[in-house]
Amino acid sequence: MRYKLYIPGPCEVDEEVLAAMAQPTPRHYGPEWMEIYQDVIGMLKQIFGTRNDLFMVPAAGSALLDMAFGSMLAEGEAIVVGMNGFFGERMGTIAECHGLRVVPFTAPLGQPLDPEELRRVLREHPEARAVAVVHHETATTVMNPVRELAQVAREAGVPIIVDAVSSLGGVPLPVDEWGIDVCVTVANKCLECPPGLAFISVSPKAWEWVDRNDSRHGWYLNLRTWRWYAENWGAWHPTPVTMPTNNVLGLRVSLRRILAEGLEAHFARYRWASQAVRRGLEAVGFEMFVPDGPTASPIATAVKARPEFTVNELMAYLAREHGILISGGLEPLAGKIFRVGHMGKASTRPFVMEFLFAVEEFLRGKGLSVPPGASMVGMAEGKSET
Ligand SMILES: *Cc1c(COP(=O)(O)O)cnc(C)c1O
Repeated sequence: MRYKLYIPGPCEVDEEVLAAMAQPTPRHYGPEWMEIYQDVIGMLKQIFGTRNDLFMVPAAGSALLDMAFGSMLAEGEAIVVGMNGFFGERMGTIAECHGLRVVPFTAPLGQPLDPEELRRVLREHPEARAVAVVHHETATTVMNPVRELAQVAREAGVPIIVDAVSSLGGVPLPVDEWGIDVCVTVANKCLECPPGLAFISVSPKAWEWVDRNDSRHGWYLNLRTWRWYAENWGAWHPTPVTMPTNNVLGLRVSLRRILAEGLEAHFARYRWASQAVRRGLEAVGFEMFVPDGPTASPIATAVKARPEFTVNELMAYLAREHGILISGGLEPLAGKIFRVGHMGKASTRPFVMEFLFAVEEFLRGKGLSVPPGASMVGMAEGKSET
């Protein structure tokens, strides 16, 4: 079975990107590589909206959160970590693994972090040396108000580290304008590439923290290592290690496609797909886990389970009969929600239609009265580029 990914990352990658990866393997240094490397870093900085240093690292997103915490903070130091879902909690775990003292700042599952609450926690904990938050909490599909949270961190004089793994490229996140000190993302979510590469931007303030930090935390996931190579070998071999060069060839094509489409149009495509799915599923009796509004994510949609069938039944049917893969809920939401991603091809009209028709068919199979096409109500709304 050829499965199609409608999960919240990785996503269905365009054939043009896949074809670019199937070229003879370039080396990761030398003049021909430097041209590719600079081109890709330039496009990434455009999408990040940053003039800060930006590193491309062969890694998963979590690795670069490890890199940020280990590079900026020493054992025993306190960090305020926003937690309103699985990935916020994971950031807390990563911080704890560096021996940091985690001051949690929470919101209930399905609700966003509150900047006023952050202000209160920072006032209560003047010893806190940094703040870390997730932008799009993929486990609940909640958007956290990163712009406001960054403002509060700045007022308190501490850097903010943002897990933008599932948001950068899918929604506006102008790193410099919003004052994000460290921003982490990956190739395989809203940048629509296969997994393998992760990216981290580092502000001057974050560098101050790095330079003041004498903790020993290894060589590879250490920002000083990457800065040293960029500064000293930058003209011919800009990274400390071998790069997955074929992945970078694919990334170059994907970034070009996104910038040619236009970032605004790229965001609009995700917004359209999320609205079409939300309206369509509501029309056939589903309820969204996150109500409409600025908190609802355009990148993925969590939908509540229904009494007539289990989430597993629906997921198994879609996979078996249509080759459509969606995601369930992560503990403690397992069985209570399912999640549909809108990244990559899942944001296009044919993919959205196929998904909604497949859900209709499942519901009819369950004996529910759903006229064919009932879930198409949102297809015409808004704007879709494809
Ligand atoms: C996918 C995701 C991660 C994990 O990324 P890995 O590359 O698997 O480490 C972290 N945070 C968020 C918000 C995510 O969506």
